[in-house]
Amino acid sequence: MTLLDIEGLNVSYASRAGPIRAVISADLKIEAGQTLGLVGESGCGKSTLGKAILRILPDTATVTGSIRFAGLDLVTAEEPALRKIRGRNASLIFQDPMTRLDPLMTVRHHFLELIRAHEPDADEDDAMKRTRRVLTAVRIPPDRLDQFPHEFSGGMRQRIMIALALVFNPTLLVADEPTTSLDVIVEAQILQLLDSIKNEFEMGVLLITHNLGLIAEYAEEMAVMYAGHIAERGPVRDVFKEPLHPYTKGLLDSVIDLETRELHSIPGQPPDLLQPPSGCPFHPRCPSAMPVCTGAFPPTTRPRRDRTVACYLYPG
Ligand code: ATP
Ligand code: SF4
Ligand code: MG
Repeated sequence: MTLLDIEGLNVSYASRAGPIRAVISADLKIEAGQTLGLVGESGCGKSTLGKAILRILPDTATVTGSIRFAGLDLVTAEEPALRKIRGRNASLIFQDPMTRLDPLMTVRHHFLELIRAHEPDADEDDAMKRTRRVLTAVRIPPDRLDQFPHEFSGGMRQRIMIALALVFNPTLLVADEPTTSLDVIVEAQILQLLDSIKNEFEMGVLLITHNLGLIAEYAEEMAVMYAGHIAERGPVRDVFKEPLHPYTKGLLDSVIDLETRELHSIPGQPPDLLQPPSGCPFHPRCPSAMPVCTGAFPPTTRPRRDRTVACYLYPG
């Protein structure tokens, strides 16, 4: 069952120097209970896409296209309906938990405030019952409810953030670089936890990361983004076995460094989104570039089952 269906999504930011096109004609789907990994170099538009889903973009952003979720088109839905969706049906976890947790509020207070924001009449006993359930799911002992954020380790704070995101049993979780500020061992623990929670709560997850290793381990489907475009998408196993887009190949080649599991850069720089190259924006860095590549953006084709790619090497 398709949980989230994004079609022809465009997001551009107004800036003094002109529009910054951060997401261009993006098509993505997430099935219920599935993790979609979204990968690409810094500045390619991953967070913008994640924020568009939850409609938490700044006023300078213009959004067109459609994002169908929970019976609504999130691009055109109005605020009262959106408020219900946000945090309830769909939740977001960010990179740095400390910027989201209030240092002066206990854990109990965070949960109460969140629950009452959506259900002003919720009684405290019931709210705490729900809080204990999600804290247990993320393996934080509920008897620590009256402690403050600084009394927890970085990994525990991130787990508290995840618990906050789960309070209303969302069907979709957008996890934007959820573990970048954590060390590798804690990162693995958090992602394993997310994976088991995903199964327990039957959620779809959009996992945004620039770490391909995490995608290989925790996602079933993946999408590769370049300069605002979805360059390629498909099942993780197939894309790793046979990357089609030259950019995906570049990313995978640069991942040989298993030590750090970080993404090494492909020669050249990602383009400036204020003035992207004509045609396929990857052409200045692409080892397979042809004259046609500088003309118009390549059409998206389906050269293999369940796979799409936007590249002139794969004519329709
Ligand atoms: P990273 O991996 O570094 O987090 P990203 O893929 O998440 O990068 P985005 O944060 O979505 O990238 O940014 C995409 C583009 O939009 C960048 O060029 C960025 O400078 C621009 N951008 C992001 N937020 C804004 C904003 N509020 N106003 C103007 N431009 C923005
Ligand atoms: Fe390379 Fe051309 Fe394909 Fe772009 S369209 S990735 S430049 S071959
Ligand atoms: Mg980002």
